[in-house]
This record gives sequence, C-alpha cells and structure tokens, in this order.
Amino acid sequence: MTVGILGGGQLGRMLALAGYPLGLRFRVFDTYVEAPAGEMAELVVGKSFDDREALARFAAGLSLITYEFENVPVDAARFLAASVPVFPPPEALEASQDRLTEKTFFRELDIPTPKFSAVDSRESLDAALETLGTLAVVKTRRLGYDGKGQLIIQQATDVQAAWNTLQGQALILESFVPFDREVSLLSVRGRDGETAFYPLVENYHHSGILRRSIAPAPATPPALQAQAEEYGKRVLEALDYVGVLAIEFFQQDGRLLANEMAPRVHNSGHWTIEGAETSQFENHLRAVLGLPLGSTAPRGHAVMLNLIGTVPESAAVLKAGDTHLHLYAKEPRPGRKLGHITLRDDDRDAVQTQANALEKLL
Ligand code: AMP
Repeated sequence: MTVGILGGGQLGRMLALAGYPLGLRFRVFDTYVEAPAGEMAELVVGKSFDDREALARFAAGLSLITYEFENVPVDAARFLAASVPVFPPPEALEASQDRLTEKTFFRELDIPTPKFSAVDSRESLDAALETLGTLAVVKTRRLGYDGKGQLIIQQATDVQAAWNTLQGQALILESFVPFDREVSLLSVRGRDGETAFYPLVENYHHSGILRRSIAPAPATPPALQAQAEEYGKRVLEALDYVGVLAIEFFQQDGRLLANEMAPRVHNSGHWTIEGAETSQFENHLRAVLGLPLGSTAPRGHAVMLNLIGTVPESAAVLKAGDTHLHLYAKEPRPGRKLGHITLRDDDRDAVQTQANALEKLL
C-alpha cells in the first residue's frame, strides 16, 4: 500500500518513518528537488502545487493521499480527491489557509478567539485599530508562518510602517493578547469518527518560531484540558475531519483563545515520538488508513527543543541524559528548522533541568 504525502518537508519525513513499521510505502510531492522527505520516499517534483500533470503522475496507483503542508491549493486537493481518497478533507485546508476564514470559523463554533477585523485599506486599518485598540497584531491573511507576514502595532507611530510593509496583501488585525502562556491541542479523528486527544502542550515561541514545547503542559487543571478537548471536538466534527489536527491557543486568566489551527501533524507534537504511547505521526496514519487509533497517553514528561539555524554536535546532545536527536537533513540557514531534540523523564522537574542545561549548551 502506497500513501501519498503532499509536501516533502520534515513532517513528511517523520510520517514516513512512522509508517514503515506498518508496512506502508510512501510517495511525496514537493516543488523542491532536495525536499527532506525525498530521502525516505519516492519524490515527485512539480513546478508548483498546482502542476496538474505532475499531480496526476504523483496520484497514479496511490491508495490514499494526505498532506503535511497546509498551503496546498484547495483546488489541487479537490482535483486529486476525484481519483484517490484525500484525508484530511480539502474543506479543512480551506478553513485554515486564510486567517480571517479560520477565525470566523472558530467564532461560528463558539470557540473564543482574540478580537479580529478584516483590513483591506489604510482606512479600514485605522478603523480596526479604533475598535480593537492600538496594541494589536496585523497579519497577512494567507501564507504567513513562523512569524512571517505579521507585525505588532504598539503605538500610533507604528501604523504607517506596518502598512508600508504589508499593504497590497489581504490583512487581518487582531488584538494583542497579553497571554499567560501558549498551549496547543493535538487531536486525532479516525474515519469512523473515533476521536482521541493528547494532553495540552505548553509552547514557547521566539520571533514567531516555536522553540520549546513542554508536555504535558504543567499546571493544567482537568477543566482546562476538557475545555480544549471540547473545542477540538467541535472543529473535528464540523469538518468531518480525518487525521491529526493541531489547534494553538493563548491561555489568559484560565480561558483559552484559539489563535490558529493546522490540519496536519504539528511541531508542538514532535514530543509524542518518545513521550507518548503512540506518536502523532503513527496516529495520523492510523486515522487516514481507517485503522484503530493508538493511545494518546503520555509516557512521563517530555521537553522538545527545536534546532533553528544551526545543528549542535550529536555526541554533546546524546550524552545529556534521556535525549533523542532528530535531524532533518536540511541545509543550515538562519531561522530554518533543522531538527529537534526530545528529552523524556518520569520526573517533570528533572526533565526541565536537563532541558535547561542542554539549551545553554546549544
Ligand atoms: P501565528 O503565526 O499566528 O501563530 O503567530 C506566531 C506567534 O506570534 C504566536 O505563537 C504568538 O507568540 C504571537 N502572536 C500571534 N498573534 C498574537 C496575538 N493576537 N496576541 C499576542 N501574541 C500573538
């Protein structure tokens, strides 16, 4: 059985690694000849994700298609779905590709979000700032990731600069949330509607890029986990979703505000490879294949550290305790995710201490 993956980045690579024990084969589609998953699977290179000729070649003989990249054009996913089953459903791409559509979708499901307003002119930006307050974040509606395509407005004098940088693109203004912390929920839904949720993860970003995840998120009352799962369930069911879905929240005064979702496996779930009974990658594959889901229970406590821009000496990392090094075989470049390290321990404080020491070394 060959599974097709749209997108050949590290997520595709880790999906393939999780799928080999299940006897699966993989074929990945990317626009980049050196896509990291290309070392693990047959790679079909298209001129773009809209390249119908290459997509048709990619789809030939596949049992099903999934994605590891949420900016796959919805039309391309629908084109493929006409000949091969595609999971998660293309509607999930549609709901998550545009920040305005996404926040509106959360609102329709009664899931709280930061206040937001569409911006399509300098006048509408001023009007939105008037309504939401000056401390705000202006973001491109589409194709932003890892903090790209967004600027914080702290005072009136920032407005023109933000406008000069981002004008010409469809924008959204959001109120800046002085959150207590950021958490994410990784959920999974099978083809038969069975759902499972991993414990909430606490995430630290720097310059918009995830640096560290702690799982399970410390100091999480059962009611907060239950609230997150309830929101997750609404999204999964509204989309008749199949696969792993990640939702990122801001936690403020015990409340969760949804910031965004990703219809795929997620960086804040990498800890599950060693830190949970079943990894997010295996559970995604089980879900899309129509197999029973695996347990999402944590195995003790885990901290995941992203390797951004440079890669440390492997030996130095591996002697630092119960550490697991994952390198994505990518060319180093500033700001690029090149790998991650997961530390695991039965003791929460011990794993944090080890992670802090390792972070200093990095
Ligand atoms: P995003 O691309 O929306 O995930 O934003 C990247 C990061 O920027 C988030 O993880 C937050 O750390 C920060 N951020 C984004 N939007 C807001 C907001 N409305 N209020 C406060 N921080 C934000």
